[in-house]
Amino acid sequence: MTQHETLRLRDVTVALDGQPLIAGLSLAVAPGEVATVMGPSGSGKSTLLSWICGSVDPAFAIEGHIELDGRDITRTVPEARRVGILFQDDLLFPHLSVGENLAFGIPRGVGREERRKRIADALCEAELTGFEDRDPATLSGGQRARIALMRTLLAEPKALLLDEPFSKLDAALRSRIRRFIFDHAIERGLPALLVTHDPDDAAAAGGPVLEIGAGGAVEATAADAGASAARKTGAF
Ligand code: ADP
Ligand code: MG
Repeated sequence: MTQHETLRLRDVTVALDGQPLIAGLSLAVAPGEVATVMGPSGSGKSTLLSWICGSVDPAFAIEGHIELDGRDITRTVPEARRVGILFQDDLLFPHLSVGENLAFGIPRGVGREERRKRIADALCEAELTGFEDRDPATLSGGQRARIALMRTLLAEPKALLLDEPFSKLDAALRSRIRRFIFDHAIERGLPALLVTHDPDDAAAAGGPVLEIGAGGAVEATAADAGASAARKTGAF
Protein backbone atom coordinates (compact mmCIF):
# COMPACT_ATOMS: atom_id res chain seq x y z
CA MET A 1 0.00 0.00 0.00
CA THR A 2 1.23 3.51 -0.81
CA GLN A 3 2.35 5.36 2.27
CA HIS A 4 0.40 8.58 2.61
CA GLU A 5 1.26 11.63 4.62
CA THR A 6 -0.57 14.13 6.78
CA LEU A 7 -2.94 16.69 5.27
CA ARG A 8 -2.30 20.01 6.98
CA LEU A 9 -4.29 23.22 6.93
CA ARG A 10 -2.56 26.22 8.43
CA ASP A 11 -4.16 29.47 9.54
CA VAL A 12 -7.01 29.32 7.07
CA THR A 13 -9.22 32.39 6.86
CA VAL A 14 -12.23 32.56 4.56
CA ALA A 15 -14.17 35.77 3.99
CA LEU A 16 -17.05 36.74 1.74
CA ASP A 17 -17.84 40.40 1.05
CA GLY A 18 -15.50 41.42 3.86
CA GLN A 19 -17.31 39.20 6.40
CA PRO A 20 -15.27 36.39 7.95
CA LEU A 21 -16.74 32.89 7.56
CA ILE A 22 -13.77 30.98 8.94
CA ALA A 23 -10.95 32.60 10.91
CA GLY A 24 -7.66 30.95 11.80
CA LEU A 25 -8.45 27.30 11.17
CA SER A 26 -5.47 24.97 11.58
CA LEU A 27 -5.80 21.22 11.41
CA ALA A 28 -3.58 18.21 10.85
CA VAL A 29 -5.22 15.05 9.49
CA ALA A 30 -3.01 11.99 9.87
CA PRO A 31 -3.03 9.14 7.35
CA GLY A 32 -5.84 6.73 8.21
CA GLU A 33 -7.70 9.32 10.26
CA VAL A 34 -11.05 10.98 9.56
CA ALA A 35 -11.14 14.54 10.89
CA THR A 36 -14.33 16.61 10.97
CA VAL A 37 -15.07 20.28 10.46
CA MET A 38 -18.54 20.85 11.82
CA GLY A 39 -20.72 23.90 11.24
CA PRO A 40 -24.25 24.95 10.34
CA SER A 41 -25.48 25.47 6.78
CA GLY A 42 -23.80 28.49 5.19
CA SER A 43 -20.77 28.46 7.51
CA GLY A 44 -18.30 27.90 4.67
CA LYS A 45 -17.75 24.12 4.82
CA SER A 46 -18.14 23.44 1.09
CA THR A 47 -16.09 26.53 0.32
CA LEU A 48 -13.25 25.23 2.51
CA LEU A 49 -13.23 21.90 0.64
CA SER A 50 -13.39 23.48 -2.81
CA TRP A 51 -10.44 25.66 -1.82
CA ILE A 52 -8.47 22.54 -0.83
CA CYS A 53 -9.34 21.05 -4.26
CA GLY A 54 -8.22 24.26 -5.99
CA SER A 55 -11.62 25.13 -7.41
CA VAL A 56 -12.97 27.79 -5.07
CA ASP A 57 -15.10 30.62 -6.45
CA PRO A 58 -13.03 33.86 -6.70
CA ALA A 59 -15.83 35.66 -4.78
CA PHE A 60 -14.19 34.31 -1.60
CA ALA A 61 -11.06 35.89 -0.10
CA ILE A 62 -9.01 33.04 1.34
CA GLU A 63 -5.70 32.99 3.13
CA GLY A 64 -3.72 30.16 4.62
CA HIS A 65 -1.79 27.11 3.48
CA ILE A 66 -2.48 23.53 2.45
CA GLU A 67 0.19 20.88 2.76
CA LEU A 68 -0.15 17.36 1.42
CA ASP A 69 2.43 14.65 1.06
CA GLY A 70 5.07 17.02 2.40
CA ARG A 71 4.37 19.66 -0.28
CA ASP A 72 2.72 23.04 -0.06
CA ILE A 73 -0.10 22.70 -2.63
CA THR A 74 -1.82 26.02 -1.87
CA ARG A 75 -1.09 27.29 -5.39
CA THR A 76 -0.79 24.00 -7.23
CA VAL A 77 -3.13 23.49 -10.21
CA PRO A 78 -6.17 21.40 -9.17
CA GLU A 79 -5.33 18.33 -11.29
CA ALA A 80 -1.86 18.06 -9.73
CA ARG A 81 -3.08 18.21 -6.12
CA ARG A 82 -4.18 14.56 -5.94
CA VAL A 83 -7.11 15.42 -3.70
CA GLY A 84 -10.28 13.32 -4.06
CA ILE A 85 -13.71 14.64 -3.09
CA LEU A 86 -17.15 13.13 -2.56
CA PHE A 87 -20.21 15.34 -2.64
CA GLN A 88 -23.71 15.13 -1.24
CA ASP A 89 -24.95 14.48 -4.77
CA ASP A 90 -22.79 11.72 -6.09
CA LEU A 91 -22.79 13.12 -9.64
CA LEU A 92 -22.42 9.85 -11.52
CA PHE A 93 -22.60 10.59 -15.25
CA PRO A 94 -26.11 9.49 -16.30
CA HIS A 95 -25.14 8.80 -19.93
CA LEU A 96 -22.32 6.42 -18.96
CA SER A 97 -22.55 2.87 -17.62
CA VAL A 98 -21.35 2.07 -14.10
CA GLY A 99 -18.12 0.65 -15.56
CA GLU A 100 -17.55 3.77 -17.69
CA ASN A 101 -18.17 5.96 -14.65
CA LEU A 102 -15.49 4.04 -12.76
CA ALA A 103 -13.11 4.19 -15.75
CA PHE A 104 -13.37 7.95 -15.53
CA GLY A 105 -11.47 7.85 -12.23
CA ILE A 106 -8.55 5.79 -13.54
CA PRO A 107 -5.44 7.81 -14.40
CA ARG A 108 -4.59 8.23 -18.10
CA GLY A 109 -1.94 5.93 -19.44
CA VAL A 110 -3.26 2.81 -17.72
CA GLY A 111 -3.68 0.08 -20.39
CA ARG A 112 -7.01 -1.49 -21.38
CA GLU A 113 -6.64 -4.82 -19.62
CA GLU A 114 -5.41 -3.18 -16.43
CA ARG A 115 -8.33 -0.72 -16.54
CA ARG A 116 -10.76 -3.59 -16.86
CA LYS A 117 -9.14 -5.34 -13.93
CA ARG A 118 -9.20 -2.23 -11.72
CA ILE A 119 -12.89 -1.69 -12.50
CA ALA A 120 -13.73 -5.32 -11.67
CA ASP A 121 -11.74 -5.09 -8.43
CA ALA A 122 -13.48 -1.84 -7.46
CA LEU A 123 -16.91 -3.38 -8.12
CA CYS A 124 -15.94 -6.38 -6.01
CA GLU A 125 -14.88 -4.05 -3.19
CA ALA A 126 -18.22 -2.24 -3.48
CA GLU A 127 -19.97 -5.62 -3.33
CA LEU A 128 -21.34 -4.93 -6.81
CA THR A 129 -19.48 -7.55 -8.83
CA GLY A 130 -20.72 -7.76 -12.42
CA PHE A 131 -22.33 -4.29 -12.45
CA GLU A 132 -20.07 -2.96 -15.28
CA ASP A 133 -22.86 -2.49 -17.83
CA ARG A 134 -25.57 -1.21 -15.50
CA ASP A 135 -27.17 2.18 -16.04
CA PRO A 136 -26.56 4.34 -12.92
CA ALA A 137 -30.29 5.23 -12.92
CA THR A 138 -31.07 1.60 -11.97
CA LEU A 139 -28.94 1.72 -8.80
CA SER A 140 -30.18 2.36 -5.27
CA GLY A 141 -28.89 5.39 -3.36
CA GLY A 142 -26.51 3.21 -1.37
CA GLN A 143 -25.16 1.52 -4.50
CA ARG A 144 -24.59 4.90 -6.17
CA ALA A 145 -22.77 6.19 -3.10
CA ARG A 146 -20.46 3.14 -3.15
CA ILE A 147 -19.73 3.59 -6.87
CA ALA A 148 -19.01 7.29 -6.37
CA LEU A 149 -16.52 6.42 -3.62
CA MET A 150 -14.84 3.80 -5.80
CA ARG A 151 -14.56 6.22 -8.71
CA THR A 152 -12.89 8.76 -6.43
CA LEU A 153 -10.49 6.14 -5.01
CA LEU A 154 -9.57 4.82 -8.49
CA ALA A 155 -7.98 8.23 -9.14
CA GLU A 156 -5.44 7.30 -6.43
CA PRO A 157 -5.86 10.45 -4.33
CA LYS A 158 -3.47 11.30 -1.52
CA ALA A 159 -6.29 12.75 0.59
CA LEU A 160 -10.06 12.30 0.65
CA LEU A 161 -12.52 15.15 1.26
CA LEU A 162 -16.11 14.36 2.21
CA ASP A 163 -18.72 17.07 1.68
CA GLU A 164 -21.67 15.60 3.61
CA PRO A 165 -21.80 12.68 1.17
CA PHE A 166 -24.34 10.69 3.18
CA SER A 167 -26.68 13.47 4.28
CA LYS A 168 -29.35 12.64 1.68
CA LEU A 169 -29.55 8.95 2.58
CA ASP A 170 -32.18 7.66 5.02
CA ALA A 171 -31.06 6.94 8.57
CA ALA A 172 -30.37 3.18 8.33
CA LEU A 173 -28.49 3.42 5.05
CA ARG A 174 -26.72 6.53 6.17
CA SER A 175 -24.83 4.88 9.01
CA ARG A 176 -23.88 1.89 6.80
CA ILE A 177 -22.55 4.04 3.95
CA ARG A 178 -20.79 6.33 6.38
CA ARG A 179 -18.99 3.33 7.89
CA PHE A 180 -18.21 1.99 4.40
CA ILE A 181 -16.62 5.27 3.32
CA PHE A 182 -14.66 5.77 6.54
CA ASP A 183 -13.41 2.18 6.53
CA HIS A 184 -12.13 2.47 2.98
CA ALA A 185 -10.29 5.71 3.72
CA ILE A 186 -8.79 4.23 6.90
CA GLU A 187 -7.79 0.93 5.23
CA ARG A 188 -5.97 2.82 2.52
CA GLY A 189 -4.23 4.99 5.08
CA LEU A 190 -5.62 8.16 3.52
CA PRO A 191 -6.02 11.35 5.51
CA ALA A 192 -9.77 12.14 5.24
CA LEU A 193 -11.54 15.40 6.03
CA LEU A 194 -15.30 15.38 6.54
CA VAL A 195 -17.46 18.49 6.71
CA THR A 196 -20.92 18.16 8.19
CA HIS A 197 -23.61 19.85 10.28
CA ASP A 198 -24.39 16.56 12.04
CA PRO A 199 -22.69 15.67 15.36
CA ASP A 200 -23.44 11.95 14.71
CA ASP A 201 -21.21 12.07 11.64
CA ALA A 202 -18.40 13.63 13.65
CA ALA A 203 -18.73 11.01 16.39
CA ALA A 204 -18.68 8.17 13.84
CA ALA A 205 -15.59 9.64 12.16
CA GLY A 206 -13.66 9.18 15.40
CA GLY A 207 -10.98 11.76 14.57
CA PRO A 208 -10.36 15.34 15.69
CA VAL A 209 -13.35 17.69 15.45
CA LEU A 210 -13.27 21.42 14.82
CA GLU A 211 -16.37 23.56 14.99
CA ILE A 212 -16.82 26.63 12.85
CA GLY A 213 -19.60 29.04 13.61
CA ALA A 214 -20.90 32.57 13.67
CA GLY A 215 -18.28 35.19 12.92
CA GLY A 216 -15.71 32.62 11.85
CA ALA A 217 -14.60 31.41 15.30
CA VAL A 218 -12.97 27.99 15.26
CA GLU A 219 -13.05 25.67 18.27
CA ALA A 220 -12.21 22.11 19.08
CA THR A 221 -15.34 20.49 20.56
CA ALA A 222 -15.29 19.52 24.24
CA ALA A 223 -15.16 15.79 23.53
CA ASP A 224 -12.10 16.21 21.43
CA ALA A 225 -10.39 19.20 23.02
CA GLY A 226 -7.70 17.16 24.74
CA ALA A 227 -6.81 15.11 21.69
CA SER A 228 -6.76 18.16 19.45
CA ALA A 229 -4.61 20.14 21.81
CA ALA A 230 -2.13 17.27 21.97
CA ARG A 231 -2.19 16.89 18.22
CA LYS A 232 -1.61 20.58 17.65
CA THR A 233 1.34 20.70 20.00
CA GLY A 234 2.85 17.69 18.29
CA ALA A 235 2.06 18.59 14.73
CA PHE A 236 2.64 22.32 14.37
P1 ADP B 1 -21.82 25.33 3.81
O1 ADP B 1 -21.20 24.30 2.93
O2 ADP B 1 -21.24 25.37 5.19
O3 ADP B 1 -23.31 25.24 3.85
P2 ADP B 1 -20.90 27.18 1.77
O4 ADP B 1 -19.41 27.08 1.77
O5 ADP B 1 -21.61 26.46 0.69
O6 ADP B 1 -21.47 26.77 3.19
O7 ADP B 1 -21.30 28.70 1.66
C1 ADP B 1 -20.86 29.69 2.56
C2 ADP B 1 -21.55 31.01 2.25
O8 ADP B 1 -21.13 31.48 0.97
C3 ADP B 1 -23.07 30.90 2.17
O9 ADP B 1 -23.59 32.06 2.71
C4 ADP B 1 -23.35 30.81 0.68
O10 ADP B 1 -24.62 31.32 0.37
C5 ADP B 1 -22.24 31.66 0.10
N1 ADP B 1 -21.78 31.21 -1.23
C6 ADP B 1 -21.55 29.95 -1.62
N2 ADP B 1 -21.04 29.90 -2.87
C7 ADP B 1 -20.96 31.18 -3.28
C8 ADP B 1 -20.52 31.81 -4.50
N3 ADP B 1 -20.08 31.09 -5.53
N4 ADP B 1 -20.55 33.16 -4.56
C9 ADP B 1 -21.00 33.90 -3.51
N5 ADP B 1 -21.43 33.35 -2.35
C10 ADP B 1 -21.41 32.03 -2.24
MG1 MG C 1 -22.07 22.66 1.91
